[in-house]
Amino acid sequence: MDFLTVPLLSVFVLPTLSAYSSRLNLLFFYMSWTTLVMSLSDVRIEMVGTLMARLIFWIIPSCIFFLFDSLAPNTAANLKEGGEAGLPSGSRRHRASAYIFQVPGMCLVNFVLSFLLQLAWEKSMIYFRFRPAVQVTIAVPMPWDIANHLFWGFLLREILSYSVHRFVLHSNQPGLNWIADWHDNWFHSLRSPLPLTAHYDHPVPYILHNFLPMYIPVHFFQFHMVTHLIYIVIISIEETFTYSGYSILPISMLQGAASRVNGHLSSDGRKYFGRIGLADLVTGTGEFLGGLVGGRGVEDDRRRRRR
Ligand SMILES: [Zn+2]
Repeated sequence: MDFLTVPLLSVFVLPTLSAYSSRLNLLFFYMSWTTLVMSLSDVRIEMVGTLMARLIFWIIPSCIFFLFDSLAPNTAANLKEGGEAGLPSGSRRHRASAYIFQVPGMCLVNFVLSFLLQLAWEKSMIYFRFRPAVQVTIAVPMPWDIANHLFWGFLLREILSYSVHRFVLHSNQPGLNWIADWHDNWFHSLRSPLPLTAHYDHPVPYILHNFLPMYIPVHFFQFHMVTHLIYIVIISIEETFTYSGYSILPISMLQGAASRVNGHLSSDGRKYFGRIGLADLVTGTGEFLGGLVGGRGVEDDRRRRRR
């Protein structure tokens, strides 16, 4: 395992060490990357890379946030957008019950499920001699190619995620009622977002709404492993902060995303269905710039629900 983790860790850590010159950084990165590609199978590199990115940027920080909220509810409530309603226990005076710890447990079960699906998909691609979703080659893509793939990848993720969330998970169609009920009984049982709950839902809506919109763009655009790692790191950071429930977030874009998740829960699933807000802005299912833009689709949804 050491043999595996040292080059992988250097791929993550070396670019952040400012003590080295950028040329030296690049050389170390390329040497580590070449060693990794030559010594391990493509699937192993993809799966271990995904797991490490998720551990470092989502699981560990989210668990720290969850424990902080549970052990120091008074301080945490002052930092939460929803005040004490945003605490796992829902109150400053009460400690989180054993029940609430089932929520992060279920989030981790869902994550393991998505991880196994990704592994099974890549194994079956190799078995049937198709091109795998993630390309592991010694040649590293140019920054422009990485940016181009990330742009289209995040756009497709937004369209897929929005469509599934709005038209399947909040559907009134008789054939889709059972999926909508699962999403309603699980995810919408949360009063406000809690750390880790980006992955909290019944496993079926979770796979449809979280895993597939995240992984289909990777396969469709045939991401290089380096692009895939950056994609997973950005998604993990987004999920960690957006669902932390804190009102003070490092980037205003994350602040907006966190407010939209809060808005989706507090409106009982009548607005804000997308991840980055773009689809809500275009289709009018959200309120932007203080309600000056959008909001038409929300009213349509309300009318449809009343009927
Ligand atoms: Zn919903």
